[in-house]
Amino acid sequence: MDTFVEGGDSHTVVTAEVMKFASRLALSRTVVDSVKLYPEFDKGLRHLVYTITIGVLGKETKTEQYDDEVKTYPATIWEELKSVWPKWLRRRFPVRYTTEIRHRTVTHYHICPHLDYGNTDAAHIRWLQGVVDNRH
Ligand SMILES: [Zn+2]
Repeated sequence: MDTFVEGGDSHTVVTAEVMKFASRLALSRTVVDSVKLYPEFDKGLRHLVYTITIGVLGKETKTEQYDDEVKTYPATIWEELKSVWPKWLRRRFPVRYTTEIRHRTVTHYHICPHLDYGNTDAAHIRWLQGVVDNRH
């Protein structure tokens, strides 16, 4: 570490080092050029907050449909009244229920941070198509 910062109050002076952290990523030149920083003042934090965006190529590979049961309740007010009847009467006139179902669609994408737009590297293109390839 080569940068030092001194600060503190009138009684003590603290010297701290500037520590640098790094992460290694394989990014294409096109992806690096697409990186944008958007500064915005956050009133709650009383600080500048940066949003970082990056553009990578992606392709939809599959979609899945799910049905979740949210809740079940008596179908009508009349059915709700029946639900408090004695058990022997409910056996004779069963309560009809309505089930609320939430339909969900989950879309899967394969994204590739290595590809320059317009590049036709076969292994990366196959990855975008959903074909798992060890060379990707
Ligand atoms: Zn790739």
